Amino acid sequence: MIAENVKNIRQRIINACRRVHRNPEEITLIAVSKTFGAGDIKKVVEAGLYDIGENYVQELRQKRGEVPDERVRWHFIGHLQSNKIKYIGDWIHMIHAVDSLSLGEQLSKWSGKTGRKIDVLVEVNTGDEESKFGVSLVDTEKFVKDLSKLPNINLKGLMTIGPFLSNPEDSRPAYRALARLKKSLEDEGLKMPVLSMGMSHDFEVAIEEGATMVRIGTAIFGSRVTRR
Ligand SMILES: *Cc1c(COP(=O)(O)O)cnc(C)c1O
Repeated sequence: MIAENVKNIRQRIINACRRVHRNPEEITLIAVSKTFGAGDIKKVVEAGLYDIGENYVQELRQKRGEVPDERVRWHFIGHLQSNKIKYIGDWIHMIHAVDSLSLGEQLSKWSGKTGRKIDVLVEVNTGDEESKFGVSLVDTEKFVKDLSKLPNINLKGLMTIGPFLSNPEDSRPAYRALARLKKSLEDEGLKMPVLSMGMSHDFEVAIEEGATMVRIGTAIFGSRVTRR
């Protein structure tokens, strides 16, 4: 079932790219495995999908221990507390949701000490009132500039969770706004190649609007018992 789902989503990514004349190779599919077990992650890996996303540090560490596969790139997509950097900093592939300067400073400090620069994205709150986290659209330019002054951070782009709207078309304005912001930052000379947006219900819209990473849980693993 999981392998079938992965295949299906890959095809839908290709179709979405075709509609807007994008190259599907620009898109990284991240399997969001939160609440699912190591057995399910192994099925995804067997299907050739090596980007895995988790949003709790403890859960991520546990599953990495259970799936000690060198090919896997682990993404941290949740809200990270500075005091937990040390648990994942040595091996994490990307941290998606940096939304405070103090977290950025701690990451930079950690990287300076260890010599391992971590790739990070800035989480932007594109208008979802439910979400407590993320820098507002209007504050993002200044925040990105402040963050890019930190010596040991690899700032790679922007991420948003997007509004949880049942009709995916309703997410389009938020995704378009973020893509536009990315472009204006790049026009100013900042290197921001990554745009992490789109989930199970709306990833095609996100791709049409410029996403380079989509984070997909439910459509790969099935529905979670707890919604998070
Ligand atoms: C859970 C989660 C996802 C995946 O959501 P689905 O709707 O199950 O695809 C994506 N991004 C973040 C940050 C998440 O917490």
